[in-house]
Amino acid sequence: MMNKETAFITGAASGIGRATARRLAEDGFRIVLIDRDRALVDDAMAEFLRNGYEAAAHAADVRDRAAIAAAFGAEARIDVMVNAAGIGPMRAFHEITDEDFREVVDVNLLGTFVCCQEAAKRMRTGGRIITISSRAALGAGNFAHYVASKAGVIGLTRAMAIDLRRAGISVNSIAPGFTDTGMTRQLSPEQHAAASALEPSGQPADPSEIANAIAFFASPRTSFVTGQTLFVDGGKSLGGQGV
Ligand code: NAD
Repeated sequence: MMNKETAFITGAASGIGRATARRLAEDGFRIVLIDRDRALVDDAMAEFLRNGYEAAAHAADVRDRAAIAAAFGAEARIDVMVNAAGIGPMRAFHEITDEDFREVVDVNLLGTFVCCQEAAKRMRTGGRIITISSRAALGAGNFAHYVASKAGVIGLTRAMAIDLRRAGISVNSIAPGFTDTGMTRQLSPEQHAAASALEPSGQPADPSEIANAIAFFASPRTSFVTGQTLFVDGGKSLGGQGV
């Protein structure tokens, strides 16, 4: 059974990461769930075992290189790395402290770098890395630190795609729009309604929509696509008014 293609997913306990873990398990991957929230990742693992999926779980912070390396070391192989761990605290521009800024960049950008570097060391030709940026990388109010980190993820994705292409490892990014997850459920009802009203569909996406797009990049049949960022946002990034 250890010969099964293995997908590592960070942020796998909740939202987009958890939906992606489900989708890739359905696609036949062995799943390694990684999340810093031990109770939630144990809950996800219990769900996977109930469904008969092959899975392992690790409580680890993506910024903790030793813990991430240990999770990789416990597996026989790594074929897919999905970086869904992230934080997105809303904050007015003048209220963002240096500590706020550092924390968001550390988790969203440095954490992605750490996991991708550790994954790439262990991948063979045909490996696939998927990062999660955001539609907000194009700009969003009251999120300057988040927007900067997610624009950075797109740059990092393109740079890694160049550095890893000779090794036969593809690196692509998904830029989700407003999606119904733990992150967006933290918004006040007023903030949630305002964000929904900006969506062409008038509502947040279901995380399975994002997971399905991630599954495209995770497939061994699309490994010739690299360095791309796919916006999965119901058309919001297209702009336009009133239609
Ligand atoms: P979520 O809060 O539901 O899930 C994020 C998960 O990441 C949580 O389980 C959390 O415990 C984990 N996590 C956070 N920091 C971590 C760390 N340092 N180490 C390990 N695990 C950590 O949120 P989500 O919406 O599913 O977010 C997933 C990704 O999608 C994030 O990168 C987010 O920025 C991105 N995204 C979300 C939206 C949206 O509208 N929900 C839109 C665009 C992009």
